[in-house]
Amino acid sequence: MKELWQLIKMLFSSKPGDFETPQLLPMKHYPFKGYRFMMWCGRMIYRVENKENIEKYMQTYAGKESMTHETIHLRQAQFAGSWVKYYWRYFIEWIKGNPIMHPASSAYYTIKYEMEAYANEDNPDYPVNYDGSNLSRYKIKSGRKKLYKSVGGTSKAWMAYIKTL
Ligand SMILES: [Zn+2]
Repeated sequence: MKELWQLIKMLFSSKPGDFETPQLLPMKHYPFKGYRFMMWCGRMIYRVENKENIEKYMQTYAGKESMTHETIHLRQAQFAGSWVKYYWRYFIEWIKGNPIMHPASSAYYTIKYEMEAYANEDNPDYPVNYDGSNLSRYKIKSGRKKLYKSVGGTSKAWMAYIKTL
């Protein structure tokens, strides 16, 4: 309960501009079991009992990609100006993607914020000098689910597609 309160407080007591890169933060009860990280308000939260594994993981290629991915989200949030604004816009995009209709995961993968982060997570220079001007490239005007299906309907096919944008 104490940690939940801490998480809620972060939303209002910190600003995206407070951080240059996401900060690793160990917690006792978050994220839920089975998850490596929970991204929240510029923190990459991990369970304290995984500390050793997390430190090893961050040195791997996949770990570095995760860090770049989350740094891109941090930059997007800095442009939004506050965590509340950013998460609200993110949430609305997810809802607009229709997370109920099949394939449900397309609602997540076609969020422009995710598309920008996935398309560029292999480039650690991308978040350096980020000015938000690329984000419009990943905005799909209509038919997100239709487009997702037309390029193959899987997250793998989608990852390949968004790199061409
Ligand atoms: Zn993401």
